[in-house]
Amino acid sequence: MQRCDRTVRAGAALAACAVGAAWAQAQGAVTFPAVSPQAIVDHVKVLASDAFEGRAPGSRGEERTIAYLVEQFRVLGLQPGNTDGTYIQKVPLVGVTADPAMSLAFEKGTTSQTLAYRDDFVAWTRRVVDRVALDDAELVFVGYGVAAPEFAWDDYKGVDLSGKMLVMLVGDPPVPDPADPSRLDPKTFGGRAMTYYGRWTYKFEMGAEKRAAGVLLVHETGPAGYPFSVVQGMGGEKFDLLTPDKNMARAAIEGWMALDRAKQLFAMAGHDFEALKKQAATRAFAPVPLGATASIVIRNSLRTVDSHNVVARLEGSDQALKEEHVVYTAHWDHFGIGAPVNGDRIYNGALDNASGTGALVELARAFTKVAPPPRRSILFLAVTAEEQSLLGSDFYARHPIYPLARTLAAINVDSLNIYGRTADLTVVGLGNSDLDDYAAAAAAEQRRRVGGDPEPERGGYYRSDHFPFARQGVPALNAGGGSEFIGRPPDYAKQIREAYTAKHYHQPSDEYRPDWDLGGAIEDLQLLLKVGYRVANADRYPEWKGGTEFKARREQMLKEAGVR
Ligand SMILES: [Zn+2]
Repeated sequence: MQRCDRTVRAGAALAACAVGAAWAQAQGAVTFPAVSPQAIVDHVKVLASDAFEGRAPGSRGEERTIAYLVEQFRVLGLQPGNTDGTYIQKVPLVGVTADPAMSLAFEKGTTSQTLAYRDDFVAWTRRVVDRVALDDAELVFVGYGVAAPEFAWDDYKGVDLSGKMLVMLVGDPPVPDPADPSRLDPKTFGGRAMTYYGRWTYKFEMGAEKRAAGVLLVHETGPAGYPFSVVQGMGGEKFDLLTPDKNMARAAIEGWMALDRAKQLFAMAGHDFEALKKQAATRAFAPVPLGATASIVIRNSLRTVDSHNVVARLEGSDQALKEEHVVYTAHWDHFGIGAPVNGDRIYNGALDNASGTGALVELARAFTKVAPPPRRSILFLAVTAEEQSLLGSDFYARHPIYPLARTLAAINVDSLNIYGRTADLTVVGLGNSDLDDYAAAAAAEQRRRVGGDPEPERGGYYRSDHFPFARQGVPALNAGGGSEFIGRPPDYAKQIREAYTAKHYHQPSDEYRPDWDLGGAIEDLQLLLKVGYRVANADRYPEWKGGTEFKARREQMLKEAGVR
């Protein structure tokens, strides 16, 4: 059963073989049931049907989705996952819709530019108020807007930016490798891999920290990871967790502008965008007042929304361990009904993430049949509002039903591989935690190699529901798909990725098609089943590897809880 041979190449994977082998010896034979591709397709056909209206939080689509999932878990015989005896965790959200009748004006002396909403920029406020206005706020270019002490990097240099409109670049500062200037320095911001400093969510958080009036990100397809059309889609109703301060600590304005318009703004203000962008990639960079101002008014309509995570529990078989959990997550939500594209207004989200949600149900089914049953408990958590910056999983991670110190791992499923089997397995953020070793061991048993994210510059580790768990300290795994499709040309993975990002990602055309090939996805799910099961039965907790940004937090948490 255990194959630790030359198909394994990485050192980490060899260590994983040792983990797997020791585990296999200790446990004896385990029967893992098969996961059915047809069952997943059946779930997708329901969840991504027009009747579910794109599964927006707070919509009729949510009601139908929640009812469907609760029924699935109930029929499987899983326990209600909430300690109040229900399968529901309430997630109070506020929905803020900005009136699209807004424009953004830049002014320098007697010259001015007016940007058109959607075509040139998208902006919103996360403040829970009817109206926000900036009147001639001074524009200041702050480069990448990064303050990262561990890389001796500070784009702000102590400049007071309160009340200013900050213009920021997306992505990490691209610092050349001193040894080979043709590539990025792997020791600064992870080289090609995106760190959290590159994420747009981080940039807006910095705007709040600097007490800025607003933050405008300059959209560039490469560093952002998606085309401007995706940014344009960010313009509808925005959800947030309902916080006591009504988000008044956030910058009043958050938004994006198209690259061309940024260049025009810099030119009008007498600056060269490309030259300043180059400076911004150096430690010497300091904020550059553009000598121009920005004005904008945003009117909001507001509503509070009771959204919900669905949570089901399979109780562990070991009396001493059943209060400890392994969590599987998948987000059930998508964008609902929105701006029409080619006449279609329903954002069905078949791949993203009806597929992962269906997989979550089927993983739960498999766990009810695995023999012997797992010693620790398994939690199946279908979360809301992932598309609104991971709100449902963030809510759970901040208000866990079962203590995080006794939660061994979070394993996330977001968008299955629908393109067939792969010779390898992609582990996003490979090398972060011991869970990667478990994944490598299970992959080796499938005679698959393990590889890192082929596009680490897109920051995949920060972009789905495992991340809020990681941020709180819980080791978290996001693995699936691969870069080498069996029987396909070497660039096939890149082709399908690019085609999907350009045509279907967050578009109404993300629908179920009969040509989906779940062969690879089924292998991934069998693997994730084994990983979670083995963690649930292991003698020791999985840990973060040294040097990861989450390790200290976990150790502190375990210490405080007296786990060690
Ligand atoms: Zn998505």
